[in-house]
Amino acid sequence: MEPAIYPVWQRVFHRFYRGLTLPKRSHSSCADPATPSPSRRSQPTLLVSRLYQPANLRDVGQDSRLSVEMTCKSQRLMQQAGLIHPSNPGCYYYLPATVRSMEKLVRVIDQEMQAIGGQKIDMPSLCSADLWKTSERWDLMGKELFRLKDRHDADYCLGPTHEEVVTTLIAHQANLSYKQLPLLLYQITRKFRDEPKPKFGLLRGREFYMKDMYSFDVSEEAAYQTYESVCQAYTQLFARLGLRCVQVQADTGNIGGKLSHEFQLPADIGEDRLLVCGSCSFSANVETMSSDSSACPQCKTGTLVESKGIEVGHTFYLGKKYSHIFKASFSNAQNKPSIAEMGCFGLGVTRILAAAIEVMSTEEGIRWPGLIAPYQVCVLPPKKGSKADEAGVVAEELVHSLGNTLPHLRGEVVFDDRTQMTIGKRLKDASRLGYPYVIVVGQGALEDPPTFEVMCQQTGETMFLSKDGLLDLLGRVETV
Ligand SMILES: [Zn+2]
Repeated sequence: MEPAIYPVWQRVFHRFYRGLTLPKRSHSSCADPATPSPSRRSQPTLLVSRLYQPANLRDVGQDSRLSVEMTCKSQRLMQQAGLIHPSNPGCYYYLPATVRSMEKLVRVIDQEMQAIGGQKIDMPSLCSADLWKTSERWDLMGKELFRLKDRHDADYCLGPTHEEVVTTLIAHQANLSYKQLPLLLYQITRKFRDEPKPKFGLLRGREFYMKDMYSFDVSEEAAYQTYESVCQAYTQLFARLGLRCVQVQADTGNIGGKLSHEFQLPADIGEDRLLVCGSCSFSANVETMSSDSSACPQCKTGTLVESKGIEVGHTFYLGKKYSHIFKASFSNAQNKPSIAEMGCFGLGVTRILAAAIEVMSTEEGIRWPGLIAPYQVCVLPPKKGSKADEAGVVAEELVHSLGNTLPHLRGEVVFDDRTQMTIGKRLKDASRLGYPYVIVVGQGALEDPPTFEVMCQQTGETMFLSKDGLLDLLGRVETV
């Protein structure tokens, strides 16, 4: 059945992209209509003039409901660059560049979770109050829980976390064997929390994306091993993103359980206070430290320095708290029912994105973790009518050849076709949006051999490279 559908989709895609692509240049070598053009197979180049990054939305004018106070750098930069736009308090439109970045972040998280045996599921956001009443969290959660009623007057909430829901799923499985454990189920979905004062843009919203994983193990010892492997996966994730993250001892709060860690990105606007040792890896949330001494309890020689942090992840060893209540059991080696040991592991997905921008950006422009930048490369052709005008052809050819010779950059290269603007103005925009690599195709591209000016935004370096040098540099860019 697929072959019948495929041509339809192809036509739809073709029509959709036609307006966004560069006009195909007719070289004598590929003018023959019988010869399939290589550009037809590659992904079309995206033109900056057509990307939906509505910077002018930043002015929300008289609508006081929308006039959000710019409370931090990431919020200001993201709103000004047309990456997000406020809708209702604590809720945002995620505009296309943000969605691209989010999708990449989700792929990195999927890779890390699946590397330790995580299996992805998707649970309802609309959760029955009965489950929450059973765990007694219906009352405990207070005003943070978004509550609603259906037409039959039954109570529901919009899930901020899913311990009750996932444990019920496991409890419904009659024949779960110890051989199937550890079982690690995770989802990346929208979560809801009725924040009293949503602020800091995507850092503290009322509707956000979270990765929540739940583990089921045969014993306490096995559950601790699972706990450790998830913590290592988190550390690996932040290392891949190039983010300095500290793992600190934390309070278990209303999730409950016996052991808990927070993953914190040190940042000035952070709402958590941390104590970090200058000599070893020790760090703790101030709330969990009993002594006032500034000496490190782990290495004894280092001094603890207070730092502020943004919480981006939280891990909990739950024991049998939920599995006991909901009777989530498996049959053990003796074929007897046994209650599972549980852990739960959260990552704030939208929060990681905003926190990364918060800690990496300059005051003037966004800097992304390279791996999850919405686009990797921006190519700037010369201004129309300038001395280097003829290099425009070279720039277009460069874009096509990048797509053809570097398959991992397909869909990652944008072409700033706003040639009525000076290079300087467009460079400023490119710097604001933080493409990891900006290539200026100017006078140098017309010389023999041609050279290209390349700006590496993360390092602030500018290089003049031949085409081979450029391909070599971009060939090493990691994408996901
Ligand atoms: Zn120390």
